[in-house]
Amino acid sequence: MRKRRYGKAVMVLMIGTITLLSLWTNSSDAVAKPSGVKWSELERRYEGVFVLSASRGSRKVALTFDDVPDPRFTPQVLNVLKRKKIHATFFVVGTRSSKHPDLLRRIHREGHNIGNHSYSHPDFSKLPLVKMQEQIGRAEAVIEGIVGFNPKLVRPPYGEILPRQLEWAKKKNYTVVNWDVDSSDWRQLSAEQVFRNVTRAVRPGSVVLMHAGGGQGQNLLGTVNALPRIIDWLRLHDYEPVTLTELLAIPEKR
Ligand SMILES: [Zn+2]
Repeated sequence: MRKRRYGKAVMVLMIGTITLLSLWTNSSDAVAKPSGVKWSELERRYEGVFVLSASRGSRKVALTFDDVPDPRFTPQVLNVLKRKKIHATFFVVGTRSSKHPDLLRRIHREGHNIGNHSYSHPDFSKLPLVKMQEQIGRAEAVIEGIVGFNPKLVRPPYGEILPRQLEWAKKKNYTVVNWDVDSSDWRQLSAEQVFRNVTRAVRPGSVVLMHAGGGQGQNLLGTVNALPRIIDWLRLHDYEPVTLTELLAIPEKR
């Protein structure tokens, strides 16, 4: 009897966790884009404004970490990067930055890029243009209040963005950067799986999607533990991990 009731509680907890996770993250490159336009097509149409990867002519690559700052995982990722003497790019959420300004300051102080990942992490492709603009603007106000500048780099939540939103981004001098390598780490994979997902897909000029922050109950220890091995592997194969602004030769500030 006790055991059955316990089983039911675990079941409810599991369903709750899965629901929370799917609310925050969903696989963005596997599903059909709501805009009906492929990312590669958008990259061609909005050259230099919507970016998936850099020139394949250099072995530079960019490690990028979304959904920060998160006190559970961001400091651990920063510690690894510091130990390995590598600079990366962090896409920050406005609401999270307000809660943990010291972490945002640390990211900036330690030489990493800061990019705008919206104010409250909605799917831009489901928002009217004005609401999307508001998301960027509100996040920008928070970021500027903490580190003193407006980022040029933008990554839309789930990678979802519409052509008319890219038109606006172009006019406002933003660079919207998604990725060509998805670690799928948000699925709470093991370090081994995260390592494999990155190393089997990376190419010269790649932009690698990882996370240093997550939804409630989401565990990103796989990412934290895979990171030193990924960096060692990249160096062993003559790749040079750099920030996105170095990879794309653009300024960090808009
Ligand atoms: Zn995100």
